[in-house]
Amino acid sequence: MKQHFDFLSIGGGSGGLAAAQRAAIHGAKAAVIESARLGGTCVNVGCVPKKVMWYASQIAHMLEDAAGYGFDNCPRGHDWGLLKERRDAYVARLNDIYARNLQRRDVTLFRGHAAFVDAHTVEVGDQRISADHVVIATGGKPRVPDIPGAALAMVSDDFFELQRCPRKVAVIGSGYIAVELAGMFNALGAEVRVYVRYDGVLRRFDPMLRELLAAEMSRTGIRIVPDTRLAELTSVAGDQIALIDADGGTLWTCDKALWAIGRIPNVAELNLSATGIKSRDNGVIISDEMQNTSVDGVYAIGDVTGRAELTPVAIAAGRRLADRVIGGDRDRKLDYDCIPTVVFSHPTIGTVGLTEPEARDRYGDNVRVYETRFKPMYDQLTGNDTRAAAKLVVSGTDERIVGCHVFGPGADEMLQGFAVAIRMGATKRDFDDTVAIHPTSAEEIVTLT
Ligand code: FAD
Ligand code: NDP
Repeated sequence: MKQHFDFLSIGGGSGGLAAAQRAAIHGAKAAVIESARLGGTCVNVGCVPKKVMWYASQIAHMLEDAAGYGFDNCPRGHDWGLLKERRDAYVARLNDIYARNLQRRDVTLFRGHAAFVDAHTVEVGDQRISADHVVIATGGKPRVPDIPGAALAMVSDDFFELQRCPRKVAVIGSGYIAVELAGMFNALGAEVRVYVRYDGVLRRFDPMLRELLAAEMSRTGIRIVPDTRLAELTSVAGDQIALIDADGGTLWTCDKALWAIGRIPNVAELNLSATGIKSRDNGVIISDEMQNTSVDGVYAIGDVTGRAELTPVAIAAGRRLADRVIGGDRDRKLDYDCIPTVVFSHPTIGTVGLTEPEARDRYGDNVRVYETRFKPMYDQLTGNDTRAAAKLVVSGTDERIVGCHVFGPGADEMLQGFAVAIRMGATKRDFDDTVAIHPTSAEEIVTLT
């Protein structure tokens, strides 16, 4: 059977769903092909179940702190299995809502794996589907290194299948997933070590954030092991895993190990060779600022493009693309500068714009930095020796804000509004002229001297 559409998304994750639905709103006959569960990484094995686990971890920390606020007999036990059951049910509800949203907008959903026949036609099972505009939105999957025993360790997808909290966990990697999942394992009762190749976690983040997060991870019992040269994983005593370094020594023996060393694009089974679409050696599909690939009428959005692998980025790129190619808004495109992002560590990190070193590289002596470190009010009674911090990086005589970095409770919710202001070109003076909200941590950002 053959069907033709105006607009086709390959992949029913954040980007593909957003693009097809926006195309349909503009009047296109649109379709989505999805080989697994609707909602993609974010809904099923990413942001959503991760945030549920973060809330659980946050509650665990608050229960530890509760005595400082006069509570006694706080519950200690935690039922990971029950949490998983409730989390999975929530995700299943979201899967249904996503399917209903497609129906409501008259977007046709094909279930199955798409492979190209030519640049504008794909095969899904025994069906052939073609479209004037084809969007590749197939996302990515966790990267596993090519070392002996690598398969003994889990990846982030497997984290969401765990039925109970492991006793000892080795997290290998230093980015978002390493930091976030290490924090969750730790809060929910595991002994956690994070093995990094270089000197610490989140190397691409502002040094202030890196320093404070490392200190807080250590304070809460997570051991960060620097300069690790991991060569092999071996199975010990049936169900234990030994981490072996390049000299043959055993670094640690643990119950579970987790690879958190980045992701690779889902392109291997797309049969891109039938299309002429160009990709990099690592599989990333080459696309320009308008999301065009090297073939007319075929676009790429989201993680498969290897740029800012974040859900709102995939969604924004997809919507803008549909606005352009279906809605007729000819210059509409996503601006990849100044994308705000949050790390769901404990406490959270919120960051937008240039780090201090990046700003100095770009603007040299024109850069000035305003920074404060403080003990959050919450911890005045808990007895925890914690620090929160805020930093503004400004440039030029008008002190335009080019970077904003926040560490501490509430940083995740705080950043969105500041990101709007910074995108609009806010200066330090604009922040100074904004009356503070008291008592909050956010007020520190408009009272920096
Ligand atoms: P995806 O959402 O991955 O969707 C791609 C879809 O394509 C998948 O459903 C896949 O099954 C389907 N597919 C692949 N190949 C084919 C094919 N040939 N035929 C048919 N279907 C196919 N981002 C944030 O902004 N905030 C967060 O807090 C956050 N947390 C994360 C936590 C984890 C553990 C992970 C792994 C990621 C997280 N992300 C987060 C990143 C975010 O999930 C991704 O950036 C986002 O999902 C990318 O959207 P996408 O549309 O490009 O791809
Ligand atoms: P990241 O890109 O965040 O971090 C991976 C890091 O692992 C690298 O930066 C590198 O750091 C290290 N690494 C790479 N190869 C190796 C290796 N062979 N051995 C040891 N360490 C290695 O990837 P993640 O997998 O953590 O997450 C994937 C993406 O998903 C993120 O980039 C982010 O865009 C998105 N995400 C977003 C979240 C959010 O918005 N809160 C949460 C989770 C994921 P180094 O060079 O320092 O060794």
